[in-house]
Amino acid sequence: MGVLKDRRRLCRHCGELHSVFDWPDNHRDPAPARSDHPAPFVIRDDIGGINGLFHHGDGKRYDSKSAYRQATRDSGCIEAGGERPQDRSSFRSFEPQVSEQEVFADVCRTLAEHDVSVGSGELV
Ligand SMILES: [Zn+2]
Repeated sequence: MGVLKDRRRLCRHCGELHSVFDWPDNHRDPAPARSDHPAPFVIRDDIGGINGLFHHGDGKRYDSKSAYRQATRDSGCIEAGGERPQDRSSFRSFEPQVSEQEVFADVCRTLAEHDVSVGSGELV
């Protein structure tokens, strides 16, 4: 393991140099506001809109997200989009069936058939 060099930066609060690894807490900028509202992380149950959201499972309209999700479960459907990422080790890797040169040659041949000129025509 290497030795960390002590890097210093000029503090805009006091004008002194501080180590970036040991910056005084009272010389930090305050975290930027995430919202103008006092409670920015409230997630409402209201869907909004005039007539609510149409549910294709039971044919009714819902104003409530939780009621909509319950109707989805009750009708035997699955709400997609909130899944956790899967283990990528089971994913197949992509192995192209043709080489890059073959694709390039095919594109050039097609462009030539249609009388389209392309720069030098060499694979970069
Ligand atoms: Zn400072």
